[in-house]
Amino acid sequence: MTAEVTPGAGTGVTPAPGPEPPAAPGGGPPGAVPACVLVVEDDPALARALRINLHARGYQAVAARNGRQGMHEATRNQPDVVILDLGLPDMDGLAVIRGLREWSRAPIIVLSGRAGSSDKIEALDAGADDYVTKPFSMEELLARLRAALRREDGGDGTVRVRIGQCEIDVAAHAAWRATPGGGPENLHLTPTEWRLLEILLRNPGQLIGTDRLLTAVWGPGYQTSAHYLRFHMARLRRKLEDDPARPRHLLTEPGMGYRYQP
Ligand code: CA
Repeated sequence: MTAEVTPGAGTGVTPAPGPEPPAAPGGGPPGAVPACVLVVEDDPALARALRINLHARGYQAVAARNGRQGMHEATRNQPDVVILDLGLPDMDGLAVIRGLREWSRAPIIVLSGRAGSSDKIEALDAGADDYVTKPFSMEELLARLRAALRREDGGDGTVRVRIGQCEIDVAAHAAWRATPGGGPENLHLTPTEWRLLEILLRNPGQLIGTDRLLTAVWGPGYQTSAHYLRFHMARLRRKLEDDPARPRHLLTEPGMGYRYQP
């Protein structure tokens, strides 16, 4: 167990790097990145039950109460999967599906009180991946969620990535740099750097929002600590990029978040 460090406590010389992250965010195995689930549901009791169950299973849950908020949170958090109620107060859930599909490939599991097959077909045609009719069993929904995430993950979870002269084995948390004329040199990354890097590398080309990264690395309550990210991203670039001042792979999207560009 690492010592507790007050958020924002700096050395006065360099930006505060932030505390070491908890051993297993969201209850997953060490090094695991909690999947982010966006729940778009206007029924407060159901939204709350979903949030509690998702948290209990180690997911990061983001809630939205209407379609507009759902689209906004999807842009901001770049969720791994979306649970979407079709009957929303401000817009048809089908319009939300179409809106998301313009830019996102995250699986969408639709919740609906309408049991008719034409509604299901319409939702699936619009780009939803799965359909659950209310009332549903929480266990069944969670099983469908796991299945959607497995399909999205697309394999054994091994990601081997090259950044400039460096080779990174994300699953093994090992990194090497090619040395001129010599063998590969081991690179040491801290647990915080691994967690941050792993999220970026497992989502190639995707913008990962600042809030989502802060929550995934340090846990809830760090949304105002964007300077932690700047500090650790700068260190990752110094370790991995050929020219840290002009990064080509670990990119900042100003005001929004970060992106790993293969
Ligand atoms: Ca509803």
